[in-house]
Amino acid sequence: MQLYIRNGRVVTETHEFEGGLLVESGRVAGLVEGNPDHAADEVIDAQGLLILPGLVDAHVHFSEPGRGHWEGFRTGSMAAAAGGVTTIAEMPLNASPPTIDEDALALKRIAARQSIVDYALWGGLVADNRAHLDGLQAGGVAGFKAFMCASSTDFPRVNDSVMRGGMEQIAAFGSFLAVHAEDEDITGRLTADLRNAGRTDRLAWGETRPVDAELTAIEAAISMARLTGARLHIVHISSAEGVDLVTAAKRSGLAVTAETCPHYLFFCEDDLVRIGPEAKCAPPLRSSARVEALWDRVLQGEIDVIASDHSPCLMAEKTAGDGDIFRAWGGISGLQSTLPAMLTAGRPRGLKLTDLVRMTTGNPSRLFGFHPRKGALAIGADADIVIVDPDAVFVLQAKDLYYRNQHSAYVGSAMRGKVKKTIRRGITIFNDGAISKNAGVGEFLAGAGSYQSIRAHAV
Ligand SMILES: [Zn+2]
Repeated sequence: MQLYIRNGRVVTETHEFEGGLLVESGRVAGLVEGNPDHAADEVIDAQGLLILPGLVDAHVHFSEPGRGHWEGFRTGSMAAAAGGVTTIAEMPLNASPPTIDEDALALKRIAARQSIVDYALWGGLVADNRAHLDGLQAGGVAGFKAFMCASSTDFPRVNDSVMRGGMEQIAAFGSFLAVHAEDEDITGRLTADLRNAGRTDRLAWGETRPVDAELTAIEAAISMARLTGARLHIVHISSAEGVDLVTAAKRSGLAVTAETCPHYLFFCEDDLVRIGPEAKCAPPLRSSARVEALWDRVLQGEIDVIASDHSPCLMAEKTAGDGDIFRAWGGISGLQSTLPAMLTAGRPRGLKLTDLVRMTTGNPSRLFGFHPRKGALAIGADADIVIVDPDAVFVLQAKDLYYRNQHSAYVGSAMRGKVKKTIRRGITIFNDGAISKNAGVGEFLAGAGSYQSIRAHAV
């Protein structure tokens, strides 16, 4: 055996048991109950520690090519490793060019070679690149992402007809559409109103993006899924009511999934007031009552995926909003903090570790068709493993972050649950606070249905 991780507590989506794992040739070769001896080249004693599948983060922005000074695949993937994340799916916007055609995808493939974790790449659906969707799919994108409200100028939002046409096409080749669901009419009008009224304070940000805007857009997206038959994923839902719309759609037989982010569960809008621009995101942080309602949906099993929506920027793009929240970059750098944040906020509320594993490893992997190769501690699966000290307490400091720009809303937060070791396909890439010198590089994971994925999944 290449590796024997022993004497810990193994957690899968369905089970928890005292024991360990055997790894051979980068794959899980056995699950071991109890603490028997096994001959292995390397033995890791995980006494008192949790052994989980490596996280699959379905939603990160590494901003490369073109904006590598914001993050980049090297630093972003190092932060992933430090956070126990062994696979990331990188979004089509914030890079320049955005990943909306075949040439841009080729450039992103080159930038992504610096990643030390395995990676998938999203393609974009914008107004109007429908002529390039087939090419993006053939190039192995893991799924498609669209904005229903205004985003960056180089990633224009979709109107109803582009969204409908795009969904028909995406459904035809068996992929799916993920949407940022906030209604443009509502957010645009409220933004204009509050800015005209001279509002610059932190709470004004949330007032321009009320839950109604989210619900209106989710309803529209679900209607479109019903009309087109396309599979739909709603990213970063910030409200229980939003989750309820997805749950109702699922019950009516539609293939719709719900994602939320740790920051909607760890922080509330009081934290936006307290922390300032670092905690600005869209949809915005909600009231503490709404946070608890969202937690209720998490505990009821109605959230499919928890993803970071890691959205880095230069420090100056956050401090620009010190006097006027509207001037700050909207996005939270959170990739490295997902696991500690969810353990910290989740365990006092009764979150089961098996459920956390399902939402952060198994389900995101299924979303892209990577399961059970990714996101599973099962024989034959890639040996992507994170070893966690559930009782270690720490206060996150900026210097601990591997991001290119060491700032985050989570800095200063007291956390309980620390990543000790991260293993990608049997190779230790993060160990006790340091990235391994021999981490090597990650592999590209093509989306299900593309030619590449058929080859890659020939396990
Ligand atoms: Zn995002």
